[in-house]
Amino acid sequence: MAKQEKQSRRAFLWTAGGLAAGGIGYLALKEKDDPNKPLKDRYPDAASRQRVLSELTHDPRVAPVYAHVEATTYAPRLEALCVYLQNKIPTLPQELRPGVQKKLNHYRALGITLENVAAGADPAKTNDSLAITDPTGTGMSRVFLTERVFESPYVRTLEDVKSILYHEGLHAVINRNGPTFGPGAFEKLVRKTGFRSVPLEVMTNPDFLRALIEVQVYNKQVYENERGTFKVSPEFRKMIAIAYYPHYQTLKQHAQQDNVFGWYAKAMLETIVVHPKVNSK
Ligand SMILES: [Zn+2]
Repeated sequence: MAKQEKQSRRAFLWTAGGLAAGGIGYLALKEKDDPNKPLKDRYPDAASRQRVLSELTHDPRVAPVYAHVEATTYAPRLEALCVYLQNKIPTLPQELRPGVQKKLNHYRALGITLENVAAGADPAKTNDSLAITDPTGTGMSRVFLTERVFESPYVRTLEDVKSILYHEGLHAVINRNGPTFGPGAFEKLVRKTGFRSVPLEVMTNPDFLRALIEVQVYNKQVYENERGTFKVSPEFRKMIAIAYYPHYQTLKQHAQQDNVFGWYAKAMLETIVVHPKVNSK
């Protein structure tokens, strides 16, 4: 059990990733705040952005998935995430360091991508760079939100931002508990694999695990948006559909294999309720 937990922590340290996107709510809004203005004008500086993000994590629709989040940080171009990981690496067990270093390199590159976005690149093509959830290895996660949360033309309202925060909080829950499956799909998995928990082979395949987890997270995010839990803007809805699709396709491809990856992919596809159809631009 302890060993399993350790494995699980390790794998998730390598793979938790995130992307999301995201608003205007009623909750913590000041009266003087004009909801018709773009978010970047309503929240022009780092201090006001950090403040509103922190407030929104207390929204009753968002708060439940933040039980395992120890900090929610505005990190315009992921600087705070990179510093955090840089400081973290020397404190980690030797065998975990290369994987975290690899993530750090990835986030540095993503930071540069964000600079390019600011310089005029198409933000719709960079939908993986709005927010990142990274676990600390202690069962708690940190959520980092970039300037795109306030500046992307696809994020219009605080409801959109709440949906982004919700997406990232779901990652934190999965960081802690692992991916989950519907009862029927789960029993089938156990019969096929002989395991009740995700085997190491799957846990240590970051690309597959990422697709598996993102599909679980997007499924839930889109489901809650569509049933009106979050009253997101049409622009945001479109961006999320675009972001969801490639992960879903990856899983569909894996589902054709008769091996452990195929079984896991099938189990997740049987669990989810939102099956994206469009690869819109
Ligand atoms: Zn994600």
